[in-house]
Amino acid sequence: MRSSTTRILILLLAITIAAIIGLQIHWLQKTYAFEKNVFNTSVIKSIRGLYEDMDLTHEPGSHLSSLIEHPNPNIFLFKIDSIPQKDSLAYYLKNEFEDFDVYTDCRVAVYNYSRQGFIYESVITATAPGKKFTGMAQLVPVKKDFSYVYLFFPNRNRYIITQMNAWILTSSLLLLLLIGFSFAIYYLYQQKFLNEVQKDFINNVTHEFSTPLMVIDLSTDALTKQSVLQQPEKIAKYANSIRHQSDYLKSHIKNLINTVVADQYTFAIKKTAVIPNELIRQAVLQLDPIVMDKKGVIELNLEENNKVIQADNENLYLALFNIINNALKYATQPHVIINTYSHNSHYYISIKDNGIGIDAVELKKIFKKFYRGQKGNLHNSKGLGLGLYFTKKIISLHHGNIHVNSIPGIGTDFTIELPVNNI
Ligand code: ATP
Ligand code: MG
Repeated sequence: MRSSTTRILILLLAITIAAIIGLQIHWLQKTYAFEKNVFNTSVIKSIRGLYEDMDLTHEPGSHLSSLIEHPNPNIFLFKIDSIPQKDSLAYYLKNEFEDFDVYTDCRVAVYNYSRQGFIYESVITATAPGKKFTGMAQLVPVKKDFSYVYLFFPNRNRYIITQMNAWILTSSLLLLLLIGFSFAIYYLYQQKFLNEVQKDFINNVTHEFSTPLMVIDLSTDALTKQSVLQQPEKIAKYANSIRHQSDYLKSHIKNLINTVVADQYTFAIKKTAVIPNELIRQAVLQLDPIVMDKKGVIELNLEENNKVIQADNENLYLALFNIINNALKYATQPHVIINTYSHNSHYYISIKDNGIGIDAVELKKIFKKFYRGQKGNLHNSKGLGLGLYFTKKIISLHHGNIHVNSIPGIGTDFTIELPVNNI
């Protein structure tokens, strides 16, 4: 399975990437704050320039902060004692903006205290000549007990962001690189995982096929010995062993072939009238040598004998075989209880064991192709990791469900649920 070093490495890389992205966002925010300050300072410098250019106040020595107000990020207003001429105000202001690099549209209005409103308005446009100025909503004056010039920058935010273009571009490039890098790592990780799965799978196939073949080989040899041929009970024992091993091989081959077929073609099921209890009895009989070998027991609580359902005989059999086989395989001395019952228009088959159990993390993965539990690999019984994958597929094709409850160290309960319209 995946090595823990690879996991730690991936985790570290993920943390690094997250940290770089976090840092980048932090710097973008800082740059935005910086550009915002630069903009405000430039506007204030332009206003100071304007005070110097025009005779706007009777107290030229006053501190700028007592003359300028900034009631909202897009608005500046500054106190005047004499009303300037409209054209010269716009002219000087435009010059000051150019001197201090304020290149965004601005609406200028003059508030006359004695008239309690704007007396005129003009526009300083930074857009190309001839282009229509946008955002001409009615300006709302701020009530004051003095006259002032009102500057409104409708596109201030957009302007600040355009000032950050280089930053945004490099950040986006870095982000794209990081995304590409993450994909590359993910791809390599997948490849490594697939290689490991493949290695495990080949080991398991070798084991699963060579062990039964070896037993068949030895039993066949024994059957040719004169001493054995004279004892009918020994002939029966070896013949049974050959039967059992070949049945086992058959189930593996079917799981394998069906998985390949199901992956590459649409897997069709052929429904006929099936008696589930019969399939269960048949599977139990086939698995009897394992029960005997492990000194276990299978308890059958089969309700409604001869209940007929519409199902694919061969595949439903294999699905049941796989689950019962697991129940025996993953227990030291198996005690398996199989129940069948109908409830709320559904037919249920429950297979409960007293085996090693499956923990919550593994429970999410057991139906995946080639998945073998960590304990499953350590356990002396091998497998291909296809049994439950195929079983789930078959139950889904019957429009049914498969539920699992498991307590590690206590046992596992698999319940197959088939809808009634299938019955
Ligand atoms: P095979 O393809 O030969 O059936 P397998 O038994 O390993 O191989 P699955 O039947 O798909 O594969 O089961 C997947 C994994 O789920 C097993 O490796 C095992 O870890 C876990 N598992 C399944 N059934 C049980 C059970 N009854 N008790 C404990 N663990 C189980
Ligand atoms: Mg299995």
